[in-house]
Amino acid sequence: MDFRLTERQARLKADARALTDLIAGYEIACEENNGLPESDHATIRDAVLDSGLQAVNMPAEWGGAGLTIAEQATVQEELGRLTGALWDMVWRPANALRFCTPEQRERFLVPVIEGRRRDCYAVTEPEAGSDPQNLATTATRNDAGWVLNGEKWFVTVGDHADFMIVLAAAGPEGAPTLFLVDKDTPGIEMTRVPRFMHTFVYEHPEFTFTDVQVGEDAVLGGIGGGYDITRSWFTEERLMIAARTIGAAERALELARDWAVEREQFGAPIASYQLIQGMLADSAVDIAVNRAYTHQVAWEVDQASPEDRKTLHAKASIAKLAASEASGRVIDRCLQIFGGRGYDRSYAVERLYRELRVDRIWEGTSEIQRLIIANELVKRGTGVLALPGSR
Ligand SMILES: Cc1cc2nc3c(=O)[nH]c(=O)nc-3n(C[C@H](O)[C@H](O)[C@H](O)COP(=O)(O)OP(=O)(O)OC[C@H]3O[C@@H](n4cnc5c(N)ncnc54)[C@H](O)[C@@H]3O)c2cc1C
Repeated sequence: MDFRLTERQARLKADARALTDLIAGYEIACEENNGLPESDHATIRDAVLDSGLQAVNMPAEWGGAGLTIAEQATVQEELGRLTGALWDMVWRPANALRFCTPEQRERFLVPVIEGRRRDCYAVTEPEAGSDPQNLATTATRNDAGWVLNGEKWFVTVGDHADFMIVLAAAGPEGAPTLFLVDKDTPGIEMTRVPRFMHTFVYEHPEFTFTDVQVGEDAVLGGIGGGYDITRSWFTEERLMIAARTIGAAERALELARDWAVEREQFGAPIASYQLIQGMLADSAVDIAVNRAYTHQVAWEVDQASPEDRKTLHAKASIAKLAASEASGRVIDRCLQIFGGRGYDRSYAVERLYRELRVDRIWEGTSEIQRLIIANELVKRGTGVLALPGSR
């Protein structure tokens, strides 16, 4: 066994930290203005391109950084330190775009990789959340291709993106299918931009689709492939959430530890009080065990054969569930250690407190992760707990 970061991982970690530190300079402006001006977006885009950390999940031959899952987790852990969801400015195109035809790749994916276009993923609907099979958006075939009708909610980056990956029930059989749709196509309307609990550099708007005409070439990955493609994304995406929440929790603990050592009440640093020490220690435990497991599973995904896919899906759920819940506990304690200052939006712990909450909701709620894990246990037994390589 060798748990050390590879030389390449260590370099990526340092590069990702340098980029994170640079982008962190925009956190307060993002918080105060609920976003950043276009000039800052351009500056950060250039910095991302200079760092070589754009599209880490896409192959180098298409212009991505071509990182392994373990390497991506290392990068995401650093980016997760950022507040305002500024980590999302270091773009990772939707994995579904790997299913592009060569023509679609040139039109959609390559420009995203190069930072010239931006995608967003529209699956959730008013009546289809945890249960995406309850899809009401339809795609009806006509002579020119397909006509989309429906409504999509919570479309992250929907304000900034210039095209959408839309899940719709296609044809009379309602085959779940993904469509690549330019956002300026007639019939698409951004109907509401809700304010959410967190400050996020992009918005999560709602859209309606009224007789939106797209060509036959808008189908991504084949008719009926929508759920499978979306599901195939979950393992990686959930691991990246786990990694980011660990990075966020670690930043919070660093800040809380330093504050506890510096802040004096009743004539002594609060770090000398055992109630504070308990919070620091419990937070260190939450971070350490979740980091180890997340990196283990990320490494396993890189080594996996196709038959391991289902078990790894459950392992990614364990990682996402455990890390997102643990980081929620960590940030709660760290805010407490800061006292009233922890409730002030100019402090990173306050922002992280609001921002980490959604990690228990998106990409499958904590309850849905538990269902996946239980399903794996019932169907295939407790092998999901085994270390890789054990017989
Ligand atoms: C900030 C934000 C950004 C998002 N970005 C995107 C995006 O870019 N694209 C996109 O398509 N979606 C996005 N989502 C949607 C997100 O994936 C959904 O909110 C999530 O899947 C849950 O769906 P829901 O909100 O409809 O909750 P519901 O499915 O209605 O769930 C409500 C509650 O019931 C529980 N529940 C549901 N079913 C079960 C069950 N079988 N057993 C036990 N408990 C259950 C849930 O865990 C939850 O606690 C985003 C959401 C947020 C908040």
